[in-house]
Amino acid sequence: MMEKGDEKLVLDIDLLRRLSEAHGVSGSEFDLGQIIKDGLEGNVSRITEDRFGNIFAEKGQGERTIMVASHADEIGLIVKHIDEKGFIRFAKLGGIADQILPAQRVLIHGAKKKVPGVIGCKAVHVMKDEERKQLVTYDKMFIDTGATKEQLESYGVRVGTPVTFLRGMTELENDLVVGKAMDDRAGCFVLIEALKRASPKNRVVGVFTVQEEVGLRGATMSAFAVKPDIGIAIDTTIAGDHPELSEQDAPVKLGKGPTIVIADGRKDSLGGGMISNPIIRNWLVELAESNKIPYQLEVLEGGTTDAAAIQMSQSGIPSACLSIPSRYVHSFSEVISKKDLENCIELLVKAMESNTPF
Ligand SMILES: [Zn+2]
Repeated sequence: MMEKGDEKLVLDIDLLRRLSEAHGVSGSEFDLGQIIKDGLEGNVSRITEDRFGNIFAEKGQGERTIMVASHADEIGLIVKHIDEKGFIRFAKLGGIADQILPAQRVLIHGAKKKVPGVIGCKAVHVMKDEERKQLVTYDKMFIDTGATKEQLESYGVRVGTPVTFLRGMTELENDLVVGKAMDDRAGCFVLIEALKRASPKNRVVGVFTVQEEVGLRGATMSAFAVKPDIGIAIDTTIAGDHPELSEQDAPVKLGKGPTIVIADGRKDSLGGGMISNPIIRNWLVELAESNKIPYQLEVLEGGTTDAAAIQMSQSGIPSACLSIPSRYVHSFSEVISKKDLENCIELLVKAMESNTPF
């Protein structure tokens, strides 16, 4: 029998899986469009797309326009050079630590054929003593597909071809899920589900933005187009509840609710980020408390979200961010909690269905 409270976790895990396993690095988010449109089918009044691939889903009418942004792109690689033997050198799209790259399986998105490969580097056996102590940097790595240069050319693999990581989504114990690109397909999932469930009091424009990981580019263009009264970004953030992080360094925990971000930006200065609008932020806090939805307050050093771009659009858009806690952010195995997804959806639905403070 289902206990009261358990029914909260009946989530469309298949949709989350399709989003996580879909391939779309910054600038090549094409495969996400159909999944997002299928997920929203029949539940919004209008879906449009701009020339960069930002997808706009509208629902509701009212005096105010709320823009909710989740980014569709994921961190990945791009082909920089192919040598005479067919080995591929690459550049990074988004922040990826070099130490997690060796031996990863990848998919190279040739124009005529998708080619699987593996990231190779010198094996430890043949490293000199000095080398063993050093971090292998990505410029010392390459992608091995088994194919010759001529074969790769015939598959449409050339300079600029996008490369993604091959990782299936898996469910873990205690409502946890592990998969690639949870940053920010988990946010896309939350936005789709909230748009499906909500009967908005205002005009809500959900935007699935492109090129967030390389500098909030899709949010910058789309906020200019939407001209919202309020902006909310849905993203993922660093959960610190594992043995190698202390609570004082990263106090956010998995399963304790979405975070309401107070401020974020560069480490040491919080430059280049966002100080959330206090009225919008307090509105979200009050909605969470009055509806008994768990939440965590957060100051995030070392990153920012689409909300930073939205707030600087037009003559300034009061903005805030809801983040889903995630362990191992910007790896290819990001762990999130289904409970946080549900609570983030619920809080976003309440925001869509409430009177706005502006
Ligand atoms: Zn993100």
